[in-house]
Amino acid sequence: FSMFFGGSRRGGGGGPRKGPSLNHPLKVSLEDLYNGKTVKLAVNRKIIVGDVETCDACRGQGAVMEIRQLGPGMIQQVQRPCDECSGQGNIFKTKNERKVLEVHIEKGMKHNEKITFRGMADEHPNREAGDINFVVQEKDHDLFKRKGADLLVVREVSLNQALCGFSWNFTHLDGRKIVVKTRPGEVIKPEMNTKEAVPFVKTVSNEGMPSRGNPFVKGNLYILFRVKFPEDNELTPDQINTLRQILPDPDSEMEHDADEVEEHHMDNADLRNFGKGGAEHRGSDAYDSDEEGGAQQVQCAQS
Ligand SMILES: [Zn+2]
Repeated sequence: FSMFFGGSRRGGGGGPRKGPSLNHPLKVSLEDLYNGKTVKLAVNRKIIVGDVETCDACRGQGAVMEIRQLGPGMIQQVQRPCDECSGQGNIFKTKNERKVLEVHIEKGMKHNEKITFRGMADEHPNREAGDINFVVQEKDHDLFKRKGADLLVVREVSLNQALCGFSWNFTHLDGRKIVVKTRPGEVIKPEMNTKEAVPFVKTVSNEGMPSRGNPFVKGNLYILFRVKFPEDNELTPDQINTLRQILPDPDSEMEHDADEVEEHHMDNADLRNFGKGGAEHRGSDAYDSDEEGGAQQVQCAQS
């Protein structure tokens, strides 16, 4: 049905409208989005050759009326697309043209942004050719994650580096060699000093992505830290003794009578099991599921 509308509007002089636009995905590395790049891409398009003539069979309508005899005295009038012009209303010849386009990837362009070439899609009679759009598809990067103009990197540091200082050398997206290091006395923590468990994050100003159209204004580089603690028994008793003397707030175990105080050691645990302890009592299901929900909420806040 829409074909009739299209046909009559095209041929019926409803004014030229634009042909369909084409979207081509264009995979771009984060490096190229940082530095900008021009790539040459070939596209194939149909162009009209010679004159466009109005179809005689349908008088440019793109559709013809057909009268069908259904029975004695019964006539049905139906509209169908014109065979002569394939419903176009015009008769014309096309040929394929290969066109090389210079695609300018601007510094700071983002995922799904379009680079438009006006009127470069297939040509159609009586209407403007549509556009060719190259749609930027940002490729994943090994090191950086991007959000807006900001970059994020995850760094694992040892407990030694976390306490005594660390430096990290890397090559930025534009090839600059960069070292990020802690100031003297600066401590990297396993998580932020907040009520909820929030990853420990620091930022380096202006080392994110350039802004599109304003490339000298850059985003920031976020560094999310993970502190790798020593494993059980990795430290020798001597090392532990030294650390106990050096680090603040050592443990002060009080003298106690083994007959009066019960001593325990700890096993590894999973917070998802919190609330599942004890023996099950029949008929107390409601309380059980309630406890489970509570345990999961604690888990969410921790992760
Ligand atoms: Zn026709």
